[in-house]
Amino acid sequence: MALSDPAQKELAAISSSLLSWFYENRRDLPWRFARTPYSTWISEAMLQQTRVATVLDYYPRFLKRFPDPSSLAKATEDEVLKFWEGLGYYSRARNLKRGAEYICEHFGGTLPSDPDLLITIPGIGPYMQGAIASLAYDVAIPAVDGNCIRIYCRLHSLPLVPSEQSTYKEIYKRVSSDLPEDAPGDFNEALMDLGSLICTPRSPKCDACPLHANCSAYLLGKQEDFPAKKEKKETPTEDHTILKIYVGNKIIVKKRPARGLLAGLYELVDIPGIKTSSEVRAFLSEHFSLESLPKSDSTKSGSEDSYEHSKDLLDIRPIGKSRHVFSHLKWNMLGYEIHLPAFLEKEAASLGEAVSPRKYKSLAFASAIRAYR
Ligand code: SF4
Repeated sequence: MALSDPAQKELAAISSSLLSWFYENRRDLPWRFARTPYSTWISEAMLQQTRVATVLDYYPRFLKRFPDPSSLAKATEDEVLKFWEGLGYYSRARNLKRGAEYICEHFGGTLPSDPDLLITIPGIGPYMQGAIASLAYDVAIPAVDGNCIRIYCRLHSLPLVPSEQSTYKEIYKRVSSDLPEDAPGDFNEALMDLGSLICTPRSPKCDACPLHANCSAYLLGKQEDFPAKKEKKETPTEDHTILKIYVGNKIIVKKRPARGLLAGLYELVDIPGIKTSSEVRAFLSEHFSLESLPKSDSTKSGSEDSYEHSKDLLDIRPIGKSRHVFSHLKWNMLGYEIHLPAFLEKEAASLGEAVSPRKYKSLAFASAIRAYR
């Protein structure tokens, strides 16, 4: 390529400065050794919306148990969710399984190198398509994510809103023209590292940035003005009372529906709203024959929200408040632990399934209720 045009010279300068910086500073991450298209897919799925430090723990365990698309396709959804438990955004795990089934059915168990085929796999969107094709197969295609959008908006002082489709298209076009044919994967990965280590959302470390001489936002002294910010809407909040109910030594659990929030994960008994122990007692009386419980001979009278020792030996113990923030919703929770005698197990069916402690341990629960597990 003849570099007579100043704009082309600038592009070459960006790409060579970025790559030189990357070769000296790239992070030694486990998915970068012995890279395969499959391991790239798994690591990129885990890294979406999740910190690298968290993924470091999950990635080797997941890959050991599911070393290829075939093992993932054959596993039950419950088992895949169990290996994902705590990572959040569980649709990623379900999509990986669906994607693995599709790969086995249509591509003989190997991820294809053609981006047009990759995008047909359930759960693989444009970012993942670019990441797998460029990192694992050296195909010259951008992998545009939030980091990439932030860096490019700053480099060219573009007041674009990251979540808009027009922003994605604009940045995709710009990255395509910067992408070096001989190192597209390294270039995309360099942008990922630069966004995580240097060009961070707040307080970017511009003095250490290999691109600062070409960065318009830096030269203007307005790094944090780009990209543009979308007006924040108030996140809705829901209140929940979580009941960990023992019937004998078994615990009542319920599988959430296959679609919607926390789909397919297990939960404890969940009543909408924040309830007092008296209200919890009233709720339990709709499901269990509480009159059959042994009577207490104690004259002790408990307060409304502590131990409840009134006419019978029903034990309703508060186990604390907690809060969980989803991407679009907040949950305020209050938990209670309840012990019922084993002879009431049959009556538990209206609330869920009473499972042994061993089975309980093997199930995948949403991290939202971690405090009560
Ligand atoms: S100079 Fe600063 S704002 Fe510009 S790309 Fe580098 S870190 Fe980001």
